[in-house]
Amino acid sequence: MKTGSINVTSENIFPVIKKFLYSDHEIFLRELVSNAVDATQKLKTLARAGEFNGNTDDLKVRVSVDPEAGTLTVSDNGIGMTADEIDKYINQIAFSGATEFLDKYKKDGASIIGHFGLGFYSAFMVSKKVEIRSKSYKDEPATMWSCEGNPDFTMDTCDKAERGTDIILYLDDENKANMTLKYTIENLLKKYCKYLPIPVVFGKKTEWKDGKEVETDEDNQINETQPLWVKAPADLKDEDYLKFYHELYPMAPDPLFWIHLNVDFPFHLTGVLYFPKIENNEFRRDKIQLFCNQVFVTDQVEGVVPEFMMLLHGVIDSPDIPLNVSRSYLQSDQNVKKISGYITKKVADRLQEIFNEDRTKFEEKWDDLKIFIQYGMLSDEKFYEKAINFALIKNTEGHYYTADEYRKLVEGNQTDKDGQLCYLYSDDKVAQYSYIEAAKAKGYDVIETGGQLDTPWMNQQEQKQEKCHFNRIDSDTLSNLIKKADAKKVEFTESERRENNTLFQSQIPDTVGQDGKKVEWNIEFQAMDETDKPVMVAQNEWMRRMKEMSKVQGGGMNFYGQMPDQMNLIVNTEAPTIKKILAAAKDALTSSLSAMCKEIEDKEAQIKPLEEEKYKAKAGEFPEDKNQLLDSLRKDVEGLKKQETEAVGKYAATDTTLRQLIDLALLEGGMLKGEALAKFIARSQELLNK
Ligand code: ADP
Repeated sequence: MKTGSINVTSENIFPVIKKFLYSDHEIFLRELVSNAVDATQKLKTLARAGEFNGNTDDLKVRVSVDPEAGTLTVSDNGIGMTADEIDKYINQIAFSGATEFLDKYKKDGASIIGHFGLGFYSAFMVSKKVEIRSKSYKDEPATMWSCEGNPDFTMDTCDKAERGTDIILYLDDENKANMTLKYTIENLLKKYCKYLPIPVVFGKKTEWKDGKEVETDEDNQINETQPLWVKAPADLKDEDYLKFYHELYPMAPDPLFWIHLNVDFPFHLTGVLYFPKIENNEFRRDKIQLFCNQVFVTDQVEGVVPEFMMLLHGVIDSPDIPLNVSRSYLQSDQNVKKISGYITKKVADRLQEIFNEDRTKFEEKWDDLKIFIQYGMLSDEKFYEKAINFALIKNTEGHYYTADEYRKLVEGNQTDKDGQLCYLYSDDKVAQYSYIEAAKAKGYDVIETGGQLDTPWMNQQEQKQEKCHFNRIDSDTLSNLIKKADAKKVEFTESERRENNTLFQSQIPDTVGQDGKKVEWNIEFQAMDETDKPVMVAQNEWMRRMKEMSKVQGGGMNFYGQMPDQMNLIVNTEAPTIKKILAAAKDALTSSLSAMCKEIEDKEAQIKPLEEEKYKAKAGEFPEDKNQLLDSLRKDVEGLKKQETEAVGKYAATDTTLRQLIDLALLEGGMLKGEALAKFIARSQELLNK
């Protein structure tokens, strides 16, 4: 019998292990089972090297619990340890047996999972005493090692005929008292060991007999030793991929596509990534699972896969990802960066392949796929460069084009006189129906948008493509959006402009925007074609986009979010009905207003030089009498304009056609609601009765 103290450096290691080492207490089981699997893999490696001649077909790991004794045992029939090895590998903590082994058998060492860290000692997170009983494949007596969670241990020979190692944990009171110990352990094994390469057995399978759960003779094997991702893609069918997907995510609908990753150089990585189908705009919380040689490590894959791919599902398995380090370290690790870049490239290439092989299938899935691709294009330049060749644009007729194809389609007709290409889009085909029809009538094509990332995607396209901009179909008149020639100017005198403005402004009913705030209206006169609509509502593209983005981003963009909705009421001065309305108003108002207009003009003519003088004068040097004169002139003009507005408004209210035209434009823009809508209906009925 030998007693001793574990390497001095480890003096304080036990409390550290218990409390801080692993925030997640449950990983002790992963560590022990991994060690056991390693031990069996090592035996296989020795057999391949001709250093072990026995049978390696029945290698297994067995886990069992004895609730009465409060013990948990992990047994393997792997390589085993001699007394010297226990002394070296277990007692001298700093010595990692795995590292040494790996050095020796570099070529075939990839299947050794033992690089998680303190491994074996994590057993003390849940135990008051740990025992090792081990018999090496070498012809040496079996050894027993025991330690009670302090630096002192005992070591002795023991009876153990079978090759391999038993690790026996005497659970501490907290863990022993766990009434559902058996289920807890089984669930942990299912979580971490489901795809280990060597059978992991936990007791026997049970069945229900006479109302009781009884054990059968069959081993309860926890794992699938050959999970899908380690198989060759050529040997797999679609059904296999779908079956595996549903095993991982039982509640999810069938995925859109999958990509089988398989790389040997410059690092090892295998896995299968699925593009999930997103329902009701909801991203499911299921995550990509990260494995290391088939041992589950985590489903927190930030930093390992590119951000946008966090939306994907599936598994990634790589022995080259450092697993026991902090997340920030992970993100700065060069290897991890390479892996992330590789995954991006591989996913993009595969999508391009699917696109080339079966475009119809790709188009059918595009609406669901779009969000992933756009997210990728927006967040990853490398991905953008590849994706731009297969990312699609859908128009309102339901046809799909690549960016290049679409540009060619519209470039001829939708380029304005300054060489700017104008893409037209609609984010609501039903609400914007009449605008879309008007565009089609001019031979223009309209893109269908409305996806969550379409606005930032359009911003990006505007930056990437030269001389182009995107405009929602109702952001202005078509002749203004795509200016073909210098537009005819509207020629109003100052007072005409003021009065015509009031004429329309005074008859717009109260309207509220999408945020429930009162809309501010601006009247814009345009000399369009005679056949164009007489009145139309439009919202400035830039302003609307800023408001939309502020909703998503908040922060500094909030400024835009708080601004009221500003809309334009565009009046076509060339439309016959408008010509009539303006002429009639002029007739009716000239006699009563001309004197007033003259007075306004005269007074404004007096104000102008005074204002200039005041502006130029130094502080306090502008004469007081002139200042008083300026004030009173301004007040006069204000009063006169108010009278003018009232008179014009009063007249405008009598012009039913004018009010009807405004309401029709609001109706078309989806803005005629509530009282205004009721009034419009009543007025229309009256008109029909006439
Ligand atoms: P690591 O696995 O990271 O090297 P551990 O503390 O888990 O660290 O294990 C230390 C060493 O003890 C292992 O490298 C291995 O050589 C040996 N060992 C642990 N468990 C077993 C086992 N079940 N069978 C054989 N050797 C084992």
